[in-house]
Amino acid sequence: MQKAIIIGSGPAGFTAAIYAGRAQLEPLLISGPSLGGQVALSSEIGNYPGFPEDIPGAELAQRMHEHAERFGTRFESDIVTSVDLSTRPFKVVTYGNEYETQTLIIATGSSPRKLRVPGEKEFSGRGVSYCATCDGFFYMGKEIIMVGGGDAAVEESMFLTRFASKVHLVHRRDKLRAERVLQERALRHEKLNIIWDSIVTEIVGDGAVTGVQLRNVKTGEEKLFPISGVFIAIGHVPNTSFLQGQLELTDSGYIVADPDGRTSVEGVFAAGDVADWTYRQIATSVGSGCKVGMLVEQYVAELEDRAYPGKIRLS
Ligand code: NAP
Repeated sequence: MQKAIIIGSGPAGFTAAIYAGRAQLEPLLISGPSLGGQVALSSEIGNYPGFPEDIPGAELAQRMHEHAERFGTRFESDIVTSVDLSTRPFKVVTYGNEYETQTLIIATGSSPRKLRVPGEKEFSGRGVSYCATCDGFFYMGKEIIMVGGGDAAVEESMFLTRFASKVHLVHRRDKLRAERVLQERALRHEKLNIIWDSIVTEIVGDGAVTGVQLRNVKTGEEKLFPISGVFIAIGHVPNTSFLQGQLELTDSGYIVADPDGRTSVEGVFAAGDVADWTYRQIATSVGSGCKVGMLVEQYVAELEDRAYPGKIRLS
Protein backbone atom coordinates (compact mmCIF):
# COMPACT_ATOMS: atom_id res chain seq x y z
CA MET A 1 0.00 0.00 0.00
CA GLN A 2 1.15 3.54 -0.83
CA LYS A 3 1.17 6.33 1.73
CA ALA A 4 0.48 8.90 -0.97
CA ILE A 5 -0.60 8.75 -4.59
CA ILE A 6 -0.55 11.87 -6.73
CA ILE A 7 -2.58 11.91 -9.94
CA GLY A 8 -1.33 14.40 -12.51
CA SER A 9 2.06 15.69 -13.58
CA GLY A 10 1.64 19.45 -13.92
CA PRO A 11 3.22 22.03 -11.59
CA ALA A 12 0.73 21.19 -8.80
CA GLY A 13 1.43 17.45 -8.96
CA PHE A 14 5.20 17.89 -9.21
CA THR A 15 5.26 20.29 -6.25
CA ALA A 16 3.10 18.01 -4.11
CA ALA A 17 5.50 15.19 -5.04
CA ILE A 18 8.55 17.24 -3.99
CA TYR A 19 7.01 17.97 -0.57
CA ALA A 20 5.66 14.45 -0.01
CA GLY A 21 8.97 13.00 -1.18
CA ARG A 22 11.00 15.18 1.17
CA ALA A 23 8.67 14.01 3.97
CA GLN A 24 9.80 10.41 3.23
CA LEU A 25 6.36 9.32 2.02
CA GLU A 26 7.82 7.75 -1.16
CA PRO A 27 4.90 9.01 -3.25
CA LEU A 28 3.72 7.42 -6.45
CA LEU A 29 2.87 9.92 -9.18
CA ILE A 30 0.59 8.69 -11.97
CA SER A 31 1.48 11.06 -14.75
CA GLY A 32 -1.51 10.91 -17.12
CA PRO A 33 -1.43 11.09 -20.92
CA SER A 34 1.54 13.47 -21.15
CA LEU A 35 4.23 14.28 -18.59
CA GLY A 36 4.18 17.95 -17.62
CA GLY A 37 0.56 18.67 -18.52
CA GLN A 38 -0.31 22.03 -20.07
CA VAL A 39 2.97 23.64 -19.02
CA ALA A 40 4.98 21.24 -21.16
CA LEU A 41 2.93 22.39 -24.14
CA SER A 42 3.41 26.11 -23.50
CA SER A 43 5.90 27.84 -25.76
CA GLU A 44 7.45 30.33 -23.37
CA ILE A 45 6.66 31.04 -19.71
CA GLY A 46 7.26 34.68 -18.80
CA ASN A 47 5.54 35.09 -15.46
CA TYR A 48 7.01 32.38 -13.26
CA PRO A 49 9.25 33.94 -10.60
CA GLY A 50 12.94 33.19 -10.90
CA PHE A 51 12.98 33.16 -14.68
CA PRO A 52 13.26 36.81 -15.76
CA GLU A 53 14.13 35.61 -19.25
CA ASP A 54 11.26 33.49 -20.59
CA ILE A 55 11.69 29.74 -20.09
CA PRO A 56 10.22 27.17 -22.52
CA GLY A 57 7.35 25.35 -20.82
CA ALA A 58 8.81 21.94 -21.66
CA GLU A 59 12.08 22.85 -19.91
CA LEU A 60 10.31 24.11 -16.79
CA ALA A 61 8.25 20.90 -16.64
CA GLN A 62 11.41 18.80 -17.11
CA ARG A 63 13.15 20.61 -14.24
CA MET A 64 10.14 20.08 -11.95
CA HIS A 65 10.10 16.40 -12.91
CA GLU A 66 13.80 15.97 -12.08
CA HIS A 67 13.27 17.80 -8.80
CA ALA A 68 10.43 15.47 -7.76
CA GLU A 69 12.43 12.40 -8.83
CA ARG A 70 15.42 13.53 -6.77
CA PHE A 71 13.36 13.24 -3.58
CA GLY A 72 12.09 9.74 -4.18
CA THR A 73 8.90 10.08 -6.21
CA ARG A 74 8.14 7.03 -8.34
CA PHE A 75 6.55 7.86 -11.68
CA GLU A 76 4.06 5.68 -13.55
CA SER A 77 3.05 6.70 -17.05
CA ASP A 78 -0.59 5.61 -16.96
CA ILE A 79 -4.12 7.00 -16.90
CA VAL A 80 -6.46 6.68 -13.93
CA THR A 81 -9.82 5.31 -15.04
CA SER A 82 -11.61 5.21 -11.67
CA VAL A 83 -11.15 5.61 -7.94
CA ASP A 84 -13.01 4.21 -4.96
CA LEU A 85 -12.95 6.74 -2.13
CA SER A 86 -15.65 4.98 -0.09
CA THR A 87 -13.19 2.43 1.33
CA ARG A 88 -9.95 2.75 3.35
CA PRO A 89 -7.35 2.52 2.00
CA PHE A 90 -8.55 4.28 -1.14
CA LYS A 91 -8.45 2.36 -4.43
CA VAL A 92 -6.99 3.84 -7.62
CA VAL A 93 -7.52 1.96 -10.88
CA THR A 94 -5.48 2.69 -14.02
CA TYR A 95 -5.39 1.04 -17.44
CA GLY A 96 -2.49 -1.11 -16.29
CA ASN A 97 -2.81 -1.50 -12.54
CA GLU A 98 -4.75 -1.18 -9.33
CA TYR A 99 -3.30 0.57 -6.28
CA GLU A 100 -4.20 1.14 -2.64
CA THR A 101 -3.26 4.34 -0.86
CA GLN A 102 -3.74 6.05 2.49
CA THR A 103 -3.99 9.50 0.90
CA LEU A 104 -4.72 10.84 -2.55
CA ILE A 105 -3.74 14.10 -4.21
CA ILE A 106 -5.69 14.96 -7.34
CA ALA A 107 -3.83 17.35 -9.64
CA THR A 108 -5.25 16.34 -13.00
CA GLY A 109 -5.65 19.88 -14.34
CA SER A 110 -7.92 20.59 -17.26
CA SER A 111 -8.21 19.96 -21.00
CA PRO A 112 -8.84 22.33 -23.91
CA ARG A 113 -12.47 23.35 -24.34
CA LYS A 114 -13.94 22.37 -27.70
CA LEU A 115 -15.74 24.77 -30.03
CA ARG A 116 -18.43 22.17 -30.73
CA VAL A 117 -19.00 23.16 -34.35
CA PRO A 118 -19.38 20.89 -37.38
CA GLY A 119 -16.02 19.80 -38.79
CA GLU A 120 -14.08 20.31 -35.53
CA LYS A 121 -13.90 16.65 -34.59
CA GLU A 122 -13.60 15.44 -38.17
CA PHE A 123 -10.55 17.61 -38.89
CA SER A 124 -8.88 17.34 -35.49
CA GLY A 125 -5.22 16.57 -36.25
CA ARG A 126 -5.82 17.41 -39.92
CA GLY A 127 -5.85 21.18 -39.67
CA VAL A 128 -7.58 21.63 -36.31
CA SER A 129 -5.24 21.93 -33.32
CA TYR A 130 -5.40 22.87 -29.64
CA CYS A 131 -1.62 23.13 -29.25
CA ALA A 132 0.39 25.84 -30.98
CA THR A 133 3.74 24.55 -29.72
CA CYS A 134 2.97 21.03 -30.94
CA ASP A 135 1.65 21.88 -34.39
CA GLY A 136 2.78 25.39 -35.32
CA PHE A 137 5.71 24.09 -37.32
CA PHE A 138 3.36 22.43 -39.83
CA TYR A 139 2.05 25.82 -40.95
CA MET A 140 5.29 27.32 -42.22
CA GLY A 141 4.44 30.13 -44.68
CA LYS A 142 0.68 29.48 -44.45
CA GLU A 143 -2.24 31.57 -43.21
CA ILE A 144 -4.02 30.25 -40.15
CA ILE A 145 -6.65 31.33 -37.66
CA MET A 146 -6.68 31.22 -33.89
CA VAL A 147 -10.01 31.23 -32.07
CA GLY A 148 -10.21 32.91 -28.64
CA GLY A 149 -9.47 36.17 -26.91
CA GLY A 150 -7.75 35.22 -23.63
CA ASP A 151 -4.08 35.06 -22.64
CA ALA A 152 -3.62 31.66 -24.25
CA ALA A 153 -5.09 32.63 -27.64
CA VAL A 154 -3.11 35.87 -27.85
CA GLU A 155 0.17 34.41 -26.63
CA GLU A 156 -0.11 31.39 -28.92
CA SER A 157 -1.09 33.58 -31.89
CA MET A 158 2.13 35.50 -31.48
CA PHE A 159 4.09 32.27 -31.19
CA LEU A 160 2.47 31.02 -34.41
CA THR A 161 3.67 34.09 -36.34
CA ARG A 162 7.12 32.48 -36.20
CA PHE A 163 5.84 29.94 -38.73
CA ALA A 164 2.70 31.25 -40.39
CA SER A 165 2.72 34.07 -42.95
CA LYS A 166 -0.35 35.53 -41.22
CA VAL A 167 -2.36 34.68 -38.12
CA HIS A 168 -5.99 35.81 -37.95
CA LEU A 169 -7.24 35.92 -34.37
CA VAL A 170 -11.00 35.40 -34.36
CA HIS A 171 -12.67 36.76 -31.24
CA ARG A 172 -16.37 36.78 -30.43
CA ARG A 173 -16.33 40.26 -28.86
CA ASP A 174 -14.78 43.67 -29.63
CA LYS A 175 -12.37 43.54 -26.67
CA LEU A 176 -9.72 40.97 -25.79
CA ARG A 177 -9.78 39.25 -22.41
CA ALA A 178 -5.98 38.80 -22.43
CA GLU A 179 -3.82 40.83 -20.05
CA ARG A 180 -2.97 44.38 -21.16
CA VAL A 181 0.68 43.75 -22.01
CA LEU A 182 -0.24 40.87 -24.33
CA GLN A 183 -3.04 42.89 -25.94
CA GLU A 184 -0.68 45.73 -26.75
CA ARG A 185 1.86 43.39 -28.29
CA ALA A 186 -0.85 41.68 -30.34
CA LEU A 187 -2.32 44.93 -31.63
CA ARG A 188 1.14 46.11 -32.73
CA HIS A 189 2.15 42.81 -34.37
CA GLU A 190 2.40 43.12 -38.14
CA LYS A 191 1.66 39.42 -38.84
CA LEU A 192 -1.37 39.34 -36.55
CA ASN A 193 -4.82 40.38 -37.74
CA ILE A 194 -7.73 40.46 -35.31
CA ILE A 195 -11.20 39.62 -36.62
CA TRP A 196 -13.54 41.13 -34.03
CA ASP A 197 -17.11 40.18 -33.11
CA SER A 198 -16.92 36.93 -35.02
CA ILE A 199 -17.45 33.24 -34.41
CA VAL A 200 -16.56 30.12 -36.35
CA THR A 201 -19.77 28.27 -37.17
CA GLU A 202 -18.25 25.46 -39.23
CA ILE A 203 -14.86 24.09 -40.22
CA VAL A 204 -14.79 22.82 -43.78
CA GLY A 205 -12.31 20.81 -45.80
CA ASP A 206 -11.60 17.90 -48.03
CA GLY A 207 -9.39 15.44 -46.17
CA ALA A 208 -7.77 18.44 -44.44
CA VAL A 209 -9.03 21.88 -43.46
CA THR A 210 -9.55 24.32 -46.33
CA GLY A 211 -11.59 27.02 -44.60
CA VAL A 212 -13.99 28.13 -41.92
CA GLN A 213 -17.43 29.61 -42.02
CA LEU A 214 -17.33 32.90 -40.09
CA ARG A 215 -20.31 34.82 -38.73
CA ASN A 216 -20.16 38.41 -37.55
CA VAL A 217 -22.30 38.36 -34.40
CA LYS A 218 -23.18 42.07 -34.70
CA THR A 219 -24.11 42.28 -38.38
CA GLY A 220 -25.10 38.64 -38.90
CA GLU A 221 -22.92 38.55 -42.03
CA GLU A 222 -21.66 35.05 -42.95
CA LYS A 223 -18.65 34.31 -45.12
CA LEU A 224 -16.38 31.43 -46.07
CA PHE A 225 -12.83 32.23 -45.00
CA PRO A 226 -10.23 30.09 -46.81
CA ILE A 227 -7.56 28.88 -44.37
CA SER A 228 -5.35 25.82 -43.91
CA GLY A 229 -5.12 25.69 -40.12
CA VAL A 230 -7.46 26.36 -37.22
CA PHE A 231 -6.03 26.71 -33.72
CA ILE A 232 -8.46 26.83 -30.81
CA ALA A 233 -7.67 28.33 -27.38
CA ILE A 234 -11.01 29.09 -25.70
CA GLY A 235 -10.31 27.91 -22.17
CA HIS A 236 -10.36 24.54 -20.47
CA VAL A 237 -12.59 22.01 -18.72
CA PRO A 238 -11.42 20.16 -15.58
CA ASN A 239 -10.26 16.54 -15.90
CA THR A 240 -12.56 14.97 -13.34
CA SER A 241 -14.68 12.46 -15.27
CA PHE A 242 -13.09 9.57 -13.32
CA LEU A 243 -14.30 11.14 -10.06
CA GLN A 244 -18.05 11.22 -10.72
CA GLY A 245 -19.97 10.24 -7.58
CA GLN A 246 -16.80 9.92 -5.49
CA LEU A 247 -16.44 13.42 -4.07
CA GLU A 248 -18.09 16.81 -4.32
CA LEU A 249 -17.73 18.60 -7.68
CA THR A 250 -19.11 21.93 -8.88
CA ASP A 251 -21.72 22.04 -11.66
CA SER A 252 -18.85 22.67 -14.12
CA GLY A 253 -16.95 19.64 -12.83
CA TYR A 254 -14.26 21.34 -10.71
CA ILE A 255 -13.39 19.71 -7.39
CA VAL A 256 -14.89 21.50 -4.40
CA ALA A 257 -12.04 22.08 -1.94
CA ASP A 258 -11.26 24.44 0.92
CA PRO A 259 -8.52 27.08 0.38
CA ASP A 260 -5.88 24.57 1.52
CA GLY A 261 -7.01 21.82 -0.84
CA ARG A 262 -9.06 19.57 1.47
CA THR A 263 -11.89 17.95 -0.48
CA SER A 264 -15.20 16.55 0.75
CA VAL A 265 -13.45 13.21 1.51
CA GLU A 266 -10.97 13.18 4.40
CA GLY A 267 -7.51 12.19 3.18
CA VAL A 268 -8.19 13.30 -0.41
CA PHE A 269 -6.72 16.62 -1.53
CA ALA A 270 -6.94 18.70 -4.70
CA ALA A 271 -4.31 21.01 -6.17
CA GLY A 272 -3.94 23.17 -9.26
CA ASP A 273 -6.41 23.89 -12.05
CA VAL A 274 -8.65 20.92 -11.22
CA ALA A 275 -10.00 22.93 -8.27
CA ASP A 276 -9.21 26.45 -9.49
CA TRP A 277 -11.39 28.13 -12.10
CA THR A 278 -10.11 31.61 -11.26
CA TYR A 279 -6.32 32.01 -11.22
CA ARG A 280 -5.01 28.98 -13.10
CA GLN A 281 -1.39 30.11 -13.04
CA ILE A 282 1.77 28.05 -12.67
CA ALA A 283 2.62 30.03 -9.55
CA THR A 284 -0.77 29.37 -7.93
CA SER A 285 -0.62 25.69 -8.89
CA VAL A 286 2.81 25.38 -7.31
CA GLY A 287 1.44 27.03 -4.15
CA SER A 288 -1.51 24.69 -3.91
CA GLY A 289 0.71 21.67 -4.61
CA CYS A 290 2.94 22.75 -1.74
CA LYS A 291 -0.01 23.07 0.65
CA VAL A 292 -1.43 19.63 -0.11
CA GLY A 293 2.03 18.04 0.02
CA MET A 294 2.38 19.35 3.56
CA LEU A 295 -1.18 18.39 4.52
CA VAL A 296 -0.61 14.83 3.32
CA GLU A 297 2.43 14.54 5.55
CA GLN A 298 0.38 15.71 8.55
CA TYR A 299 -2.49 13.41 7.68
CA VAL A 300 -0.29 10.33 7.35
CA ALA A 301 1.33 11.17 10.71
CA GLU A 302 -2.15 11.44 12.27
CA LEU A 303 -3.09 8.03 10.86
CA GLU A 304 0.06 6.55 12.40
CA ASP A 305 -0.72 8.20 15.73
CA ARG A 306 -4.21 6.68 15.63
CA ALA A 307 -2.79 3.23 14.75
CA TYR A 308 0.03 3.34 17.35
CA PRO A 309 -1.00 5.75 20.15
CA GLY A 310 1.93 6.75 22.37
CA LYS A 311 4.62 5.89 19.80
CA ILE A 312 7.34 8.56 19.61
CA ARG A 313 7.84 10.03 16.15
CA LEU A 314 11.10 11.59 15.07
CA SER A 315 9.58 14.55 13.20
P1 NAP B 1 -9.77 32.27 -20.77
O1 NAP B 1 -9.05 33.35 -20.06
O2 NAP B 1 -10.95 31.65 -20.11
O3 NAP B 1 -10.19 32.85 -22.20
C1 NAP B 1 -10.99 32.11 -23.06
C2 NAP B 1 -11.27 32.95 -24.28
O4 NAP B 1 -11.98 32.16 -25.22
C3 NAP B 1 -12.10 34.19 -23.95
O5 NAP B 1 -11.65 35.28 -24.69
C4 NAP B 1 -13.49 33.75 -24.39
O6 NAP B 1 -14.27 34.82 -24.89
C5 NAP B 1 -13.20 32.80 -25.52
N1 NAP B 1 -14.22 31.76 -25.64
C6 NAP B 1 -14.69 30.91 -24.69
N2 NAP B 1 -15.59 30.05 -25.20
C7 NAP B 1 -15.70 30.36 -26.52
C8 NAP B 1 -16.45 29.83 -27.58
N3 NAP B 1 -17.29 28.79 -27.40
N4 NAP B 1 -16.32 30.39 -28.81
C9 NAP B 1 -15.47 31.42 -29.00
N5 NAP B 1 -14.70 31.97 -28.03
C10 NAP B 1 -14.82 31.44 -26.80
O7 NAP B 1 -8.83 31.03 -21.14
P2 NAP B 1 -7.24 30.98 -21.41
O8 NAP B 1 -6.82 32.01 -22.36
O9 NAP B 1 -6.98 29.56 -21.73
O10 NAP B 1 -6.60 31.32 -20.01
C11 NAP B 1 -6.97 30.54 -18.86
C12 NAP B 1 -6.19 31.00 -17.65
O11 NAP B 1 -4.81 30.70 -17.86
C13 NAP B 1 -6.31 32.49 -17.39
O12 NAP B 1 -6.33 32.71 -16.01
C14 NAP B 1 -5.04 33.04 -17.99
O13 NAP B 1 -4.64 34.23 -17.35
C15 NAP B 1 -4.07 31.89 -17.75
N6 NAP B 1 -3.01 31.92 -18.79
C16 NAP B 1 -1.93 32.72 -18.54
C17 NAP B 1 -0.92 32.81 -19.47
C18 NAP B 1 0.22 33.72 -19.18
O14 NAP B 1 0.17 34.40 -18.18
N7 NAP B 1 1.27 33.75 -19.96
C19 NAP B 1 -0.98 32.08 -20.66
C20 NAP B 1 -2.10 31.27 -20.90
C21 NAP B 1 -3.11 31.22 -19.94
P3 NAP B 1 -14.79 35.99 -23.92
O15 NAP B 1 -13.60 36.87 -23.70
O16 NAP B 1 -15.86 36.63 -24.73
O17 NAP B 1 -15.30 35.32 -22.71
